[in-house]
Amino acid sequence: MGEEGRVEFEPMPGFHKLESLWRIEYKATALEPVITQAATEEAKTEISDLIGKTYAKEEIDLVPLVMGDKAIITGNAVKGLFRHLISAQLTAAGVPVCVQDVKLGEGSQVPPERKKQCEPENPCFICTWFGTASRQGALHFSILESTKPLREVLVSEPIPMIALSDQHKAAAKRAFALIAPVRAGTEFRGWIKGENLSEEIIGAIAEVAEMSKMGFVQFGALKTRGMGAMRIEIARIEKYRTVPKFELEKAYEGDELAGFLGRCRERYHALLTRGGRGAER
Ligand SMILES: [Zn+2]
Repeated sequence: MGEEGRVEFEPMPGFHKLESLWRIEYKATALEPVITQAATEEAKTEISDLIGKTYAKEEIDLVPLVMGDKAIITGNAVKGLFRHLISAQLTAAGVPVCVQDVKLGEGSQVPPERKKQCEPENPCFICTWFGTASRQGALHFSILESTKPLREVLVSEPIPMIALSDQHKAAAKRAFALIAPVRAGTEFRGWIKGENLSEEIIGAIAEVAEMSKMGFVQFGALKTRGMGAMRIEIARIEKYRTVPKFELEKAYEGDELAGFLGRCRERYHALLTRGGRGAER
């Protein structure tokens, strides 16, 4: 570990200087039913009509977020999940990660293994790539969209669930709630846009994809009820140079992509090792 508990990571050239642009295309497949978000009344009615009212209940309580005729997951939700998992892994490894002030409730303390919100001129790994309250990061996550229309990806029967958590007390009062998630096996597509990415951050993204293969990456609501696990597979990466002109520098696919991701993960693992926590075990 360096001075002041700092662990060095590959620096970002800076937001004022655009050296490379990255396009990371990926596929996300539901391993379990997924309820992407509690939606508006209007969407609930629409989906109640699509599925058909087979239960003695007026309407379905939780339905996926929809755009056009596709089920979607917002880019923000995806970004939040990646940010959380990478932050938590770095913290476990002893690499300092800050807690944004906005995430701290009034009067609550920064957890002992995390540091206070970064100064803008000295961002941690997470602030560098995911941004801060005052500055966007170098990563942008697209909306994830189902490849098939909504009517083909919804469960055929709504799932009744009893005694939901506090936030759904109104539903609990009616003894059970009806949930209409997208079914297991549903495929979504999305992409991550990156500016000036390092191999370390690409490795961190690949690490989350690796965790997802085992079902450890969950999206949306009702995670404690066995919903939300999705497998993320990086399908293609394109790197564009910006000088002397904007053009495709390299596209990774197939074996070459696997090799590149393997190298990036090694770089990320080296960062985790520099955190020093592993040596104590
Ligand atoms: Zn930070």
